[in-house]
Amino acid sequence: MSEILCIIDGMTDKGFRIDDYPNLRSLPVRKTIQTVPENSQPESLICILTLLGYQNIPKHLRGYADALGADIPIQKEDLVLRASWVTLSADGRILGYTQAPLNYAPGEGFKYHSLGTYKGLLILPNMADCLENLSTYPPHKYLGAPIDTVLPAGLEALRRVVLSSYQQGRCLIPWGQARSANLSPFPLRAAVITGTNVVRGIARMTGMDIIQVPGATGDTDTNLAAKAEAAIIAAQDYPFVLLHVNGADEAAHRLNPAEKRTFIKQVDRILVPALLESPHKLIFVSDHATDPDTGLHEGGAQEAYIRNAL
Ligand SMILES: [Zn+2]
Repeated sequence: MSEILCIIDGMTDKGFRIDDYPNLRSLPVRKTIQTVPENSQPESLICILTLLGYQNIPKHLRGYADALGADIPIQKEDLVLRASWVTLSADGRILGYTQAPLNYAPGEGFKYHSLGTYKGLLILPNMADCLENLSTYPPHKYLGAPIDTVLPAGLEALRRVVLSSYQQGRCLIPWGQARSANLSPFPLRAAVITGTNVVRGIARMTGMDIIQVPGATGDTDTNLAAKAEAAIIAAQDYPFVLLHVNGADEAAHRLNPAEKRTFIKQVDRILVPALLESPHKLIFVSDHATDPDTGLHEGGAQEAYIRNAL
């Protein structure tokens, strides 16, 4: 029998009650798992790698994982940053996210790749050595703050790029700096089903095979039935399947508690029973909490819901 690890990204929060989800509640074994290593932030990349058994995870990895997952080539000495477009008030405070402009070019010899909606990546060729001196500020932690307080520090050219991107109440905020790194291969032959770049990046860093599922969007409109079916088919062939479901985290980042709850109910009604039909070992767990009132990730132990192989 195989093992299917189903990570429901950002599932928990202070209002989460397992009794609201009867199928998940029906799993016979519960185990408390620390998903955030000491001195780390509760962030999907680190939490998911921890759930996969990785230790001593490089600190600056996130932008690199996103780039790998999006098929963007990164050279060994490149510095990679996540880049989010935000709207600003008349007095220069961060209001929220907005669509990236068309045909944006950062200048300074940097490259920019759109990842859709407000998300992008900045590649700074041959600047990986600047990583240690660079400070950036993730915009989701600074909503309402003046733009001056989130300007990157320690790399003047990056600061200039941010200032020159500031037009018509819109601005680019770079954060999550990273460089390439090698992770040890995952010890089992494994398949990954996900709609997100970061988990595709994890698959590429650890040598797992990516199974493409039509309709896997990485958000609340994903096709849960198709993902469950793909996981069961993959488990016939692979001893380990990572099934990642991202919608709850996205709804929480949109500060929408009702959307988050409705989505987890769909997971409980559609995905969980389909997997329970299979004979494989099943583990359902959240990578971290995401508070739909603040939009922020939170650490703390997560409860895993487990059924051993039949
Ligand atoms: Zn998140």
